[in-house]
Amino acid sequence: MVQKLQNTSPDFSGRLLSDVFLVYVESVKMNLKLNKKISVIAFLMTVITQILVAQDQSVDQKVENLLKKMTLEEKIGQMNQLHCADMDRVNEEMRKGHVGSILSITDPDIANKAQRVAVEESRLGIPFLSGRDVIHGFKTIFPIPLGQAATFNPEIVRQGARIAAIEASATGINWTFAPILDITHDPRWGRIAECVGEDPYLASRMAEAMVHGFQGDDLSDPTSIAACAKHFAGYGAAEGGRDYNSTFITERQFRNLYLQPFHAAVNAGTASLMAAFNDNDGIPSTANKFLLKDVLRDEWQFKGFVVSDWASVTEMIAHGFAANEKEAALRAANASLDMEMVSETYIKHLPELIEEGKVSMETIDNAVRNILRIKFELGLFDHPYVDKKRTEVFYAPDHLAAAKEAAIQSAVLLKNDNQILPLSEKVKTIAVIGPLANAPHEQLGTWVFDGDKSHSITPLRALHDQLGQKVKIIYEPALSYSRDTTTANFDKAIEAAQKADVVITFLGEEAILSGEAHSLANLNLQGKQSELLAALSETGKPVVTVIMAGRPLTIEKEVELSDVIIYFWAPGTMGGPAIVDLLFGKAVPSGKLPVTFPKSVGQIPIYYNHKNTGRPANGSEYSLNDIPVGALQTSLGNRSYYLDAGHKPLFPFGYGLSYSSFKYETPELSASKLSTSDTLSISFTLTNMGKYEATEVAQIYTQDIAGSVSRPVRELKYFERVQLKAGESKKVTFKLPVQELAFWNYDMKYVVEPGQFNLWVGGSSDTNNKTSFEVTE
Ligand code: BGC
Repeated sequence: MVQKLQNTSPDFSGRLLSDVFLVYVESVKMNLKLNKKISVIAFLMTVITQILVAQDQSVDQKVENLLKKMTLEEKIGQMNQLHCADMDRVNEEMRKGHVGSILSITDPDIANKAQRVAVEESRLGIPFLSGRDVIHGFKTIFPIPLGQAATFNPEIVRQGARIAAIEASATGINWTFAPILDITHDPRWGRIAECVGEDPYLASRMAEAMVHGFQGDDLSDPTSIAACAKHFAGYGAAEGGRDYNSTFITERQFRNLYLQPFHAAVNAGTASLMAAFNDNDGIPSTANKFLLKDVLRDEWQFKGFVVSDWASVTEMIAHGFAANEKEAALRAANASLDMEMVSETYIKHLPELIEEGKVSMETIDNAVRNILRIKFELGLFDHPYVDKKRTEVFYAPDHLAAAKEAAIQSAVLLKNDNQILPLSEKVKTIAVIGPLANAPHEQLGTWVFDGDKSHSITPLRALHDQLGQKVKIIYEPALSYSRDTTTANFDKAIEAAQKADVVITFLGEEAILSGEAHSLANLNLQGKQSELLAALSETGKPVVTVIMAGRPLTIEKEVELSDVIIYFWAPGTMGGPAIVDLLFGKAVPSGKLPVTFPKSVGQIPIYYNHKNTGRPANGSEYSLNDIPVGALQTSLGNRSYYLDAGHKPLFPFGYGLSYSSFKYETPELSASKLSTSDTLSISFTLTNMGKYEATEVAQIYTQDIAGSVSRPVRELKYFERVQLKAGESKKVTFKLPVQELAFWNYDMKYVVEPGQFNLWVGGSSDTNNKTSFEVTE
């Protein structure tokens, strides 16, 4: 019977089902005879596995069959991605079989027309991949990825990606260039907004959530789009935070940090990866064999394809890594870069390079296999066209509700003096101030091409909608945009504040100030925003500051000037209703910082999971004022810190307040000694000490005290959102497999090294709630 199933053509799912049914009948007969339930179940499982294997083989088989029919020119065509700017030319090239993918078509009619050319007018009828940057929503815009990471809620992040896929796929897009998994320690780098934080564990959970959301349960579902984990790899370590800059990451750092979220994305089944712009230690990622071949293909067994970044193949000439386009094509192809985005050196030069024997047919065949495999898995050969009626789903009520919930959970309450929030019913007059209170475009954030600002509900509008006549709202923006330096309207804002019970100020960054190619050397609030806040603070009225920005800004002064600070990132389409729910206590903040907030730019790079150094800061720090004039040479304690900024950040990773407060009991461990194959149970009682039902993101950190290479002072190993009613206590138990303590050690092996470990449980990375355990051989 197994033999018969292997011969089954799995092209027809009906046929497959009938085979499963036959198997089932056979097995029931056997069951009756043998009356051995377990062996029948095992048998069934084996057969189902055989069927699945047969199905997998069939995709490979289809790929091989097609490959055999292709000319070299057609094969190289699959490795070529063109931009949609000149569709006449693109369609002409498509007809000749010279195009594997098109970038940025968002009109379903144009997509269908091009797909018709590919399917009906090209010799082999291979559909094209329609790629687009859909990174935090398509029409319904979700918080920027950094804000999504602040939710510490993979499920809501998965939902956001799912909705983005449903909306984007309605226009014929079948491939997104997301998630963005670059770890960075530098908020000067504008692309921090697109990423999911500084921690490899958090970023890995977000990576999986996004891949699952975009790709759905089945890549061939018409609402699924292929994910593209980018930028592979190390791009976030750009020197000085200057975009596109070189990086100098060692192999161990790559493996222990930068590659982790990519590995998680590959394990979650991402269909593709994008090579990064940066050169690491002199080797551009676009032609980095270690990354693209040794790690990705040989170690991780990745079966999807890798696309270059925009013209990153030809940029290798500017890098000084290739003398001309032909050499750039040679180096990229031989490093296993499967598809070239827009720069067309493959299509021009690969035929010649093959002829000269410099690139092998095997290299080309493998690249084409990887691309075709995803096209088959997406079901593009079966349903190449899109039904444009599906676009009715744009901004569907459940999409907006999910975007609002994501925005609520992304907000991080950094300060709430005198429990000013939530605002009570007693508030009769509110002064709404600042350039971002009513900025529908800005709240969408960076790298939004398709979301329409006319759908944005701003904080000002939501305040009016939700408070109606009950509360008087005086709106005085004072500054018309974040970089505005005119103070002419400050008086009006001050006057409004004086009349109000509370002042709510919306400050931060315009959307365009973060994202690609928007690095900043100064992270203070732009324009005269800080001066505006100082003037408002002088009125003596309670000041609630909501900061909307694409990155951590250096807001030490503004924290002082405000009674309340909420960090709201760029919250997306539903930012307004989300913040109003938070301000008035319909929702309680639960977001936590996915990145460390520096006090000043001079502290960068600053991140929680650093190494200890031989002379760690120990709290007894001198400041500049401690040094007498004319002091003799002194070592000032010989510790690692800044005389003018200490060693602590403004806010640590994982930090975030609630309207309630939480008490953690000391964690109890299931064992104090464990072997490398054990699982540690960590139990502790968590109590909601406040008056509000609230959610706390409980976090587990460990420290491997001594290793064959020095180890970080703390590493996040687990987190979970725990919901508690007012006054409720819960015993929480988390499981930590000891294998999670593995790292790339001195011998560049991924192992758990026996020894002593510290473990902390708490609501941020600087918790002191500590215990310890030992791992034995
Ligand atoms: C960016 C990528 C993006 C690509 C296509 C590049 O400039 O680095 O992240 O996917 O453009 O828009």
